[in-house]
Amino acid sequence: MPLLVMKFGGTSVATLDRIRRAAKRVGREVAAGYDVIVIVSAMSGETNKLVGYVEETSQLYDAREYDAVVSSGEQVTAGLMALTLQEMDVPARSWQGWQVPLKTTNAHAAARIVEIPTDNIMAKFGEGMKVAVVAGFQGLGPDGRVTTLGRGGSDTTAVAFAAAFAAERCDIYTDVDGVYTTDPRITDKARKLDRIAFEEMLELASLGAKVLQTRSVELAMRYYVRLRVLSSFEEQSDEAGTLICAEEDIVESKAVNGVAASREEAKMTLISVADRPGIAAAIFGPLSEAGVNVDMIVQNISEEGRTDMTFSCPINQVARAEKALGEAKSAGDLNFREILADTNVAKISVVGIGMRSQSGVAAKMFKTLSDEGVNIKVIATSEIKISVLIDRKYTELAVQALHDAFELEKA
Ligand code: ASP
Ligand code: MG
Repeated sequence: MPLLVMKFGGTSVATLDRIRRAAKRVGREVAAGYDVIVIVSAMSGETNKLVGYVEETSQLYDAREYDAVVSSGEQVTAGLMALTLQEMDVPARSWQGWQVPLKTTNAHAAARIVEIPTDNIMAKFGEGMKVAVVAGFQGLGPDGRVTTLGRGGSDTTAVAFAAAFAAERCDIYTDVDGVYTTDPRITDKARKLDRIAFEEMLELASLGAKVLQTRSVELAMRYYVRLRVLSSFEEQSDEAGTLICAEEDIVESKAVNGVAASREEAKMTLISVADRPGIAAAIFGPLSEAGVNVDMIVQNISEEGRTDMTFSCPINQVARAEKALGEAKSAGDLNFREILADTNVAKISVVGIGMRSQSGVAAKMFKTLSDEGVNIKVIATSEIKISVLIDRKYTELAVQALHDAFELEKA
């Protein structure tokens, strides 16, 4: 039997009525001849509520009990979905993470999937079960206790099941109808993409296009899982949604396929550090140990053996970065005159696999921004991405101008 994984996010299972609509979609795939593994999220708002209970009860909570509480939302929807399917005469049963068992690392609240044995579920398919409804987000740790995969983790559950069971496809039903060229709230010219390459989606996902948990895309890329993102509120058709697939499945790509904006960035500059071997290590070693996610790095030209070093990091890590660098200075591992933190920046990125073979993208990006009078503070590039830091107040202007310049409204 061909097998399909269908994942329903919180808004798609928010009420009993919506669970019924989702179940009907599952029923159609069963009628079309598929065995289906359904992954469900908690009803929308439920996980937030549970996290709130935990935080109100205990400030420095035990992560194992956090997992015991917050994993319960998915337990409810898995049971309800199985019941709904049974009411429609579709042979279905629910599975908790520990029953599969979906084995994870011991990192409670942020566990990673280690293994998904397929024998239990396959045996039930062999006995005539048509749908296995699996609670997303949760697993079983080596300590024998329930774990969760981090917020948004049921996307990762879905992709991991699709990989483990060699599913034909993994359909992610959500409240948006696909992946867009940019945030539709910033410009109404944003266009839904029919296809996007894994690499592009990874760049867009980690840059603030919050459609899928980043880890789910990494996993899909590693195991070649064809991922489709589509709305559970619209009628189904074969072209619905966005297919996230390997580069080879995209015939011809424009140089740029998306513009992403992230407002949660900060720019930090260390003034007057010694320009000598080992200086970068002396700065970025302590930052990495302190868990600061450094993104862009620029070292200025040196004068009389001193230079300035600029880097960007998430805005909520500025205090941590200052502390780590201050301690390194006190310990005598590092010397600088002062640290400047600019917390009024945004990172704007253009992304496209076509950049590998087409030139002139950077020049066009910089010209477009300069025509709008937007000053660029830091630039970083990779093979398929160019990012700049600019003043945050120009975020919308920059995104709209770049979306126009690269003609993203046209397919
Ligand atoms: N319910 C969990 C959350 O809200 C997992 C998920 O929906 O992906 O983060
Ligand atoms: Mg989600």
